[in-house]
Amino acid sequence: MIKIKLPDGSVREYAQGSTGMDIALSISEGLARNVLAAKVNGKVVDASLPINEDSDFQLLTWNDLDGKATFWHSSAHLMAEAIEALYPGTKFGIGPAIETGFYYDIDMGEKTLSSEEFKKIEDKMLELARQKNEYSRSAVSKEDAIKYFEEKGDEYKLELLEGLEDGSITFYQQGNFTDLCRGPHIPNTGFVKAVKLMSVAGAYWRGDISRKQMTRVYAVTFPKQKELEEYLTLLEEAKRRDHRKLGKELELFAFSEKVGMGLPLWLPKGTMLRERLENFLRRAQVRAGYSPVITPHIASKELYVTSGHYAKYGADSFQPIHTPDEGEEFFLKPMNCPHHCEIYKTKPRSYRDLPLRLAEFGTVYRYEQSGELHGLTRVRGFTQDDAHIFCRPDQVEDEFMKVIDLVIYVFKALGFDNYSAQISLRDPENKEKYIGKDEDWDKAEAAIIKSAAAKGLPTVVELGEAAFYGPKLDFMVKDALGRKWQLGTIQVDYQLPQRFELEYTGSDNQKHCPVMIHRAPFGSLERFIAILIENTAGNFPLWLSPEQLAVLPISEKYEDYANEVFLRLQEQDLRGYIDHRDEKIGRKIRDAEVNKLPFMLIVGEKESEQGMVSVRKKGEGDLGMMPIDEFIKIAQEEVNKNIVKY
Ligand SMILES: [Zn+2]
Ligand SMILES: [Zn+2]
Repeated sequence: MIKIKLPDGSVREYAQGSTGMDIALSISEGLARNVLAAKVNGKVVDASLPINEDSDFQLLTWNDLDGKATFWHSSAHLMAEAIEALYPGTKFGIGPAIETGFYYDIDMGEKTLSSEEFKKIEDKMLELARQKNEYSRSAVSKEDAIKYFEEKGDEYKLELLEGLEDGSITFYQQGNFTDLCRGPHIPNTGFVKAVKLMSVAGAYWRGDISRKQMTRVYAVTFPKQKELEEYLTLLEEAKRRDHRKLGKELELFAFSEKVGMGLPLWLPKGTMLRERLENFLRRAQVRAGYSPVITPHIASKELYVTSGHYAKYGADSFQPIHTPDEGEEFFLKPMNCPHHCEIYKTKPRSYRDLPLRLAEFGTVYRYEQSGELHGLTRVRGFTQDDAHIFCRPDQVEDEFMKVIDLVIYVFKALGFDNYSAQISLRDPENKEKYIGKDEDWDKAEAAIIKSAAAKGLPTVVELGEAAFYGPKLDFMVKDALGRKWQLGTIQVDYQLPQRFELEYTGSDNQKHCPVMIHRAPFGSLERFIAILIENTAGNFPLWLSPEQLAVLPISEKYEDYANEVFLRLQEQDLRGYIDHRDEKIGRKIRDAEVNKLPFMLIVGEKESEQGMVSVRKKGEGDLGMMPIDEFIKIAQEEVNKNIVKY
């Protein structure tokens, strides 16, 4: 007998060689019907795989990420089977699951696959799915495996086989299709009930631009038709909210080929939005004891040799800038930390001076391949809401808590209520990979876990994901469409203070090396604003709106009154514009709606006679006629609503 420990902590005994499916059936038949795979001692396996030892055990269904990934990867086999049936002779590269769905890299020879053929492939996949063919696993010798793919004439699988050891090779077969794969897979194709091919793209074999370009077919499948429909609706909505589209329509930012790819130009309205965000964080940071600093956009090569960035990233980053006479070499700043270390060194520090918190909206430049650039989320120049906290080892926990407070404050004020964190720790089996003292690591890791728990932050812990110089915590937020984004990060660093030989005099009168914490709640302003645009669909909260209101005179006759109203509003720090155009009021209202103006103030004869304004609010419609002061009160209350006291 073997002991099987279930996720609820209960332990059951089963005969040796029982499978995940056996265990599922012993629990409930309904559950067994939904089982896609199993997780045994942390490893995802086929539900049909015999278990021979005492194990931590979990059944995986569509509701588990690993279950979904197994479903989608299995669907890649199904798509390959359909493609092979429809286009005999197609060769296959790799077919992994991705965040949503899966792809398969295929080589169709001279043929190019067009989207008109998608339907045919989808129908074939569904036809094969209905056959409920089992994904059956078999171990094969390397020799037999090579023979199989030589006969089939698939050089890609042969190349993959080269890297595999004899004795570790498995084939999976479903219906008429056999693939080289280590698995795992779902029990049979019958689970796949809805199929959609999304797109095709070119992809170099093994990501190597000197190798053959294959066709990458992206697709997604679901266990229910309804889920596919919901997914497609979500995609439509995501398209509508795409920050590149809204950024253009709302005149927030632009790109110019002449300026260069991946280098955003912030237009007046976008700058207004960005400055509001900066000021908001600046105020919170001053209250949290940060000192703002400013450092240059370039720095001498020496700085990055000292920091280690030159050795690590020198070749991948931008080329150096040479001065004409002195022969000096400079680099565009890829990160702000080395500069801040030099600020730390400008005077002797004592244990009483710590923590020292240096904050900078630091613009950095990093080379990204042109194909990788994407709107504001992947750019070559961006501004981090960066700060570095230099502290004593005994202060790490306290500082960490304070940073978590600040980050959560920022998220809440901006409407991201659904957040979680990933804590990345050392690989306990390979401690020699990391620098810094063992006891400091233990303390810092415990401090991160403890502070996250104390703040009630939902977390997942990943072992082995820490940087070699320290553990970290990354924040994830879920947006209005349920998409997850990685935002701010907090990192503990033992290395940089050593490389820069930073020190402070301790209470023991000895010299000590401080610990450094890197943190950025937004991550980068560019990326954060992109996410903010998509989360709000461009309907920013009033305090952030580049334009909060439009004053719309019904005709030329009320120009003077409109000016008077606008001036009163400006005096109260409300911003926007007067629509002076010689247009019908209906047109003025429509344009203000397109520009997502939170408030419209319509002024005509009645309003000007009585010192009133007629107010329309976005999303709520007509609020009626009211004195100007009353409107000011409404607007100011709304502005202040989000700015909870920090
Ligand atoms: Zn597979
Ligand atoms: Zn840093």
